[in-house]
Formats: sequence, structure tokens, C-alpha cells
Amino acid sequence: MTTPASDSPYIGRFAPSPTGPLHFGSLVSALASYLDAKSHNGIWLVRMEDIDPPREMPGASDYILRQLQLHGLHWDGQVLYQSQRSDAYLSTLQQLQDRGLTYYCQCSRQQLKKRGGIHNYRCQLENPAEPTALRLALPDRCNIEFNDLFQGPQIQDVKQQVGDLVLRRKDGLFAYQLAVVVDDAFQQITHIIRGSDLLETTPGQIYLQQQLNYTSPQYGHIPVATNLAGQKLSKQNLTPPINHETPVKNLARAMSWLGLPVIKDANIASHTSCDELLAWAAAHWQRKLVPPEMERVASDGYQGDTTA
Ligand SMILES: [Zn+2]
Repeated sequence: MTTPASDSPYIGRFAPSPTGPLHFGSLVSALASYLDAKSHNGIWLVRMEDIDPPREMPGASDYILRQLQLHGLHWDGQVLYQSQRSDAYLSTLQQLQDRGLTYYCQCSRQQLKKRGGIHNYRCQLENPAEPTALRLALPDRCNIEFNDLFQGPQIQDVKQQVGDLVLRRKDGLFAYQLAVVVDDAFQQITHIIRGSDLLETTPGQIYLQQQLNYTSPQYGHIPVATNLAGQKLSKQNLTPPINHETPVKNLARAMSWLGLPVIKDANIASHTSCDELLAWAAAHWQRKLVPPEMERVASDGYQGDTTA
């Protein structure tokens, strides 16, 4: 695996799971990663994290890509589909297994619950009958520190706070943690800008990168868009779909959410295009403008609301 040289360009990415169409929260994540990349003259890639068929919605991958294009969020290069990356995941698993870093686990949800939900002990299964998960055995002390571009210094004892990482799930599917680490390295991603709901998975990813001799990207977690009840916007809490009639307004609203001083003009859509608005935003994007917490109603349409 090649690692980015110190003078390598910025390579960012947006990596949605095709569980449904983009909603306002995922549009904010896409936009933040796009603007951070473009404001650094970077490359912006899109990767479809389609390795969990039971959770996916047929046609959602294409739909999401059309939604991005509708908003002028044009990616560089080819879209990478994780569903086509099985060979890479398998060979990485094999490598970790050959080095004795993994173990089989058949623990049930209930067993895990009894242990506080954290699996930090090595199961002793020599020749397990299927189905079985494969976990990465972490050392007893596994403190990972990193400096988040938005959230500041972070530290986590992965072993004690998260437990041994699942690399392959009991149902035979590759785990998110494995696929994301292998693909971020494969695509030579240098910066990962994403929602803070993934913040607690990051130290585990950094540890796995270290085991595989990958260079860790820089991480930045933007606050997740929530409704007034503090719930992450999702299909489950009836977040309305993006209005495809108003892409410029949607973008303006997402930019405002990210702290960009979008002009307070309710008619913005009538005299600006997505491309013009994105170019303006890339020129004005500053990480420090992103408000630390954003607990505003996201379902009420663009209001030309607060500017930083
Ligand atoms: Zn177990």
C-alpha cells in the first residue's frame, strides 16, 4: 500500500451508505467535505459504502449520486463501490489472521450486554462452527490520541471504551471498520470530514491503520444536524426528503448551517446557480466558522437564518 507523500495533494471523500436518499443532514456532510476539499484545491471523491445489503434500499446509490449532481456537487474520478472491493477486504483479513491478531467470536448480543456491551476479552474458539464473527484483538492498553480539525484533541482507550473491533460480522458481511480503513488507504485519502456521530469510531480506525502500516488521514467531525429534540436527522425520525425543486436554496440552507455568511435573501434561487454558490462558498469556507453545536430545526425550509 502506498502512503501519501508529505507534498501530496488534499484528497477528501464523501462516503454515504445507500440506505435511502440524502436528507438535509447528509447533504450538510457532503457539502462540508466538498468545501473543505475545494477550499484546499483538493480532490473530492465519492465512495458508496454498499456492503450491508439488509440495510440498503434498492436504487438508493444511483439516487444519491443524482442528488449530488443536482446540487452541483460533482465528484472527481470514478465512484468507488465497496460491494466490488471484497478481494481487498479478504486479503487484509487474511493478513491480520496470519499475524495472529484476530479471533473468532460467537458471542450473542445478550452475552455482550451482560458485559456492559464491550467485548474486550479474547474468545477461545479453535475451530468454530459457522456463523462466527472475526474480531481484532486489541492490546490491554490501547490509547489512541488525535487532534480533530473541528472538535480539538481527542483521546480514547479503544480496548476499554469500545472493545475489540469486529472485522467480519457474524452474518459473514465485512464490517464497516475494516472496509472504511482499507478503502481510505486505497484511495489515499488525506482528510476525512464527516459527521460527529462517527467520532467514536475514529480511534479504532486509527489503530487498525497503524496495524496495517497505513498513514492516518486527518479527521474532522462536524456537529451532526439535529432536530430540536437533539435527534440526528434520519429516516427514522421522519426527516423530510430534500426538495429537488430548490437545489440552490437547499445548498444555501446547508451553508448557513455550517456557519457560512450566506446572503439573507429569500430569492437567492432566482439569481444564483448551484455552481456559483459553491464557488462562493469554497472561497469563504473556514473551519472555525462551523458552530460547535447546531441544534436548530432543520425541517422548516430555508429561512435565510443566522450567519456567524
Ligand atoms: Zn466473543
